[in-house]
Amino acid sequence: AGITKLNISEKVKLEDLLFKTFLTIGNIKENKKIEIEYEFSHSFYLDIDEVRIMRVILNIISNAVEAILEQGKIWIHTEDIKVENQDYVEVSIGNSNSFIEKEYLHTIFDPFYTMNKEKGTGLGLSIAQKIIKLHGGDIECFSEFDKGVEFIFYLPANKEKY
Ligand code: ADP
Ligand code: MG
Repeated sequence: AGITKLNISEKVKLEDLLFKTFLTIGNIKENKKIEIEYEFSHSFYLDIDEVRIMRVILNIISNAVEAILEQGKIWIHTEDIKVENQDYVEVSIGNSNSFIEKEYLHTIFDPFYTMNKEKGTGLGLSIAQKIIKLHGGDIECFSEFDKGVEFIFYLPANKEKY
């Protein structure tokens, strides 16, 4: 995970990137019945490292697909938020039918932390966190037993510019 420098492209349309990445679910879901739900509140154009942000989304959804054993739902929502007068876009990617105990919600981002997987590397989320932080954002995980697991990350947006 030796990422030190981002390769920023200007005005990347976030929805396109999310759709593109979500198309890959079809290839990795095997025989699982996975329903996908999108809900985008606006069109966001961001200055981001497109390849790296795709990697983040892919790491989160591949974990979701792996966590759903037979059937379930994966959802993705975007929203614009303001924190201390700065605009951000918040992306939530969640899945039903899995759960993470509260005490592990931070640990899962540690490099090499992997649980219940034959071929896990434990690097997916640590790389995702690193990429989001390099963009000036942050990522968190939430889980409730009857709802599932949700990752929420945010990235700086510049409304004036677009
Ligand atoms: P890996 O997938 O190689 O194990 P990750 O860093 O991608 O490594 O994830 C770390 C761990 O976090 C996983 O092994 C799994 O236990 C847990 N995890 C991540 N996403 C989910 C999810 N959607 N549902 C349940 N557990 C998850
Ligand atoms: Mg993973």
